[in-house]
Amino acid sequence: MPTQLDNARRGEPAIRFDGVDKRFGDNVVLRGLDFTVAKGDRVTLIGPSGSGKTTILRLVMTLEEATGGYIYIDGEPLTHVERGGQRIALKEKHRNEVRKRIGMVFQQFNLFPNMKVIDNIIEAPTHVLGMSKADAVAKARQLLDKVGLADKEDSHPSQLSGGQQQRVAIARALAMDPEILLLDEVTSALDPEIVNDVLNILRDIADTTDITMLIVTHEMQFARDVSNRVLMFDGGRVVEEAEPDVMFKDPKEQRTRDFLSAVL
Ligand code: ADP
Repeated sequence: MPTQLDNARRGEPAIRFDGVDKRFGDNVVLRGLDFTVAKGDRVTLIGPSGSGKTTILRLVMTLEEATGGYIYIDGEPLTHVERGGQRIALKEKHRNEVRKRIGMVFQQFNLFPNMKVIDNIIEAPTHVLGMSKADAVAKARQLLDKVGLADKEDSHPSQLSGGQQQRVAIARALAMDPEILLLDEVTSALDPEIVNDVLNILRDIADTTDITMLIVTHEMQFARDVSNRVLMFDGGRVVEEAEPDVMFKDPKEQRTRDFLSAVL
């Protein structure tokens, strides 16, 4: 049965940026950014290097903190709320709770180098979700099977190729049963011949789950196959937003046309 809270949240976007600012010193990366990602959406952010796409993912993951504005996950404020016209920081405990629903896969895999593959995957489910070790191991084995690495559970990351490490990182993110999966240029550090293996696993996840995905990628074909919405991002704001077929075939904005003609 849906609770009152579920009813209240139904129709809420999975991710909402409301007037978000992000500065690094004098470098203003985002200024008053508004955008939403609906539940179950697969949204790809495209745009020039340095335009702030990774920063957006890192803000959602609370690896960075916005310098202004508000981010909501499932309608719940992530790090700050507005009270009496003031922007108030929420407690660490609150943001950790909200962050449990979000998984992230990084360009550089970011596996724990001193832990075996299986231990990398069960670390968060056991420590953050309080899952029993036996359950976490059973789930990790299923996920390793799904990403084609059932025989690597006792390996250390350094014994694996880049593509294999990235598949472990995907399994690790999925082990938390995230509602939202953030994919940050996950194939950029891989040799060209294994890029497709990793993309195929992600396509399969997109096809077989309803996880909301926010994707930063240079793989335009992947963006086209997997996303239902593409945001062209430049100068700290969304320049254009469209379904992939429209964005890649008939973009409206000159800025988007220039960018796509340089990368396609
Ligand atoms: P993109 O993903 O679009 O290439 P990024 O989000 O990585 O862009 O970077 C946007 C801008 O923010 C760049 O100017 C970058 O140098 C700056 N930036 C990102 N992270 C940091 C950081 N931790 N410290 C200082 N500047 C940063």
